[in-house]
Amino acid sequence: MSSNVSPRYDLVVIGSGPGGQKAAIAAAKLGKSVAIVERQNMLGGVCLNTGTIPSKTLREAVLYLTGMNQRELYGASYRVKANITPEDLFARTAQVIGREVEVVRSQLLRNRVEIFPGTASFVDEHTVQIVDDHRGELTTLRGDYFVIASGTRPAHLPGVDYDGERILDSDEILSLRSIPASMVVVGAGVIGIEYASMFAALGTRVTVVEKRDSMLDFCDPEVIEALRFHLRDLAVTFRFGEEVTGIEIGQSGTVTTLASGKRIPAETVVYSAGRQGQTEELALEKVGLAADDRGRIQVDKHFQTSVAHIYAVGDVIGFPALAATSMDQGRLAAYHAFGESASGMTALQPIGIYSIPEVSYVGATETELTKASVPYEVGVSRYRELARGQIAGDSYGMLKLLVHTESRKLLGAHIFGSQATELVHIGQAVMGCEGTVDYLVEAVFNYPTFSEAYKVAALDVMNKIRSLEQYQS
Ligand SMILES: Cc1cc2nc3c(=O)[nH]c(=O)nc-3n(C[C@H](O)[C@H](O)[C@H](O)COP(=O)(O)OP(=O)(O)OC[C@H]3O[C@@H](n4cnc5c(N)ncnc54)[C@H](O)[C@@H]3O)c2cc1C
Repeated sequence: MSSNVSPRYDLVVIGSGPGGQKAAIAAAKLGKSVAIVERQNMLGGVCLNTGTIPSKTLREAVLYLTGMNQRELYGASYRVKANITPEDLFARTAQVIGREVEVVRSQLLRNRVEIFPGTASFVDEHTVQIVDDHRGELTTLRGDYFVIASGTRPAHLPGVDYDGERILDSDEILSLRSIPASMVVVGAGVIGIEYASMFAALGTRVTVVEKRDSMLDFCDPEVIEALRFHLRDLAVTFRFGEEVTGIEIGQSGTVTTLASGKRIPAETVVYSAGRQGQTEELALEKVGLAADDRGRIQVDKHFQTSVAHIYAVGDVIGFPALAATSMDQGRLAAYHAFGESASGMTALQPIGIYSIPEVSYVGATETELTKASVPYEVGVSRYRELARGQIAGDSYGMLKLLVHTESRKLLGAHIFGSQATELVHIGQAVMGCEGTVDYLVEAVFNYPTFSEAYKVAALDVMNKIRSLEQYQS
């Protein structure tokens, strides 16, 4: 293996996912010299190669090819393609990944960020060593500041025989060789439910097994009930409060045994049992840092580790572990390192779940407001009452606003159905500007749109608040 020593950089970033990319670009924009280290074929990180982008592209391909969203209009048997193959689905994914990788590479190069391929590990507090097995090179990089954005990988449960074919983790779904007729999804978290709904839409009989008694508890319960209803309608079976005790692999499939004694036959089992921080290879002990048992690194509100010039951002620091938040953490870490002022991470962050149908919300839930004794009123708009809902063939979607009964400030927006992850930003903007529901009542929206749901829900809230005032007087 040949070895090189490169010049000292103002910032060395480990990992090129959303957190690392944005840290590198923010520092470069401040005129700093920046190096970013990434493993072969992983430019863009988990986000681009195995996580967000492939799963969201897969979802688009599923929606298009199954004709799912058009069935209310053209009938239950409507399909764009009768026999959908993994090639049909993954061709689109590969194309999008390829293009996005080029976008990331070009952004980094345009900003004069140097890309070092290989795996980085610390040698001392200001030095990392990069092993590039492909080229047989060992490079030593020195830096004043470091940002660790090494992300996560699927957590593998001990005793589970992941073979990449019958028993898969969520990354391995992207290399499925056929669309299974039946599937068990273990874990009803966001990733598990997103994939469960995609395969259910493809016609796979899906059983979701979850230890807890419910799923996606952080969302509005009414919205999640609507999602569960919809998924059941797509032949998804839920087994809540159940634990997997064993899986037998046979010639043509698997049998999953639950602690309750139930046995579930399925062609494939997908484990979506959380994620593990990728910290083992970093040699954190060389700089006096350590990760917890889930591989996560602890940071303060500036994303600084206990070693002041080493920052950590993105999934490797844990919750909320989203591409959207990781990007901003990266930018803020770079700003903090180089003394650029910033107002910090905004508290108002939207959540998007790309299930079929999709779910999104911003702000408080009814449960949180009730717990905090905040008086609120609810306004609901159903897509079936919107002209756009009829045109698009979405009769099940809904938007729900939570409004403070006294100040009339918007406290939360919860959406289920078409465009939910886009629409949520209207609520976010109103809330971010401390707006009241009056704005939504008075605003004129394009017609016919899903955005109109805000006005309808706002009028609904206002009517309720008005009747409260009438009955009081
Ligand atoms: C299936 C799935 C769907 C998702 N969907 C969404 C979604 O819809 N919306 C959303 O906001 N988020 C979503 N996420 C989460 C999102 O992908 C992550 O939050 C995001 O990718 C985290 O970014 P990151 O900067 O921490 O780095 P990551 O994207 O995790 O990338 C880290 C990179 O660091 C590299 N690395 C690790 N160690 C080293 C080392 N020692 N040397 C060199 N390089 C190293 C890795 O190779 C990897 O490329 C999804 C995740 C998954 C798995």
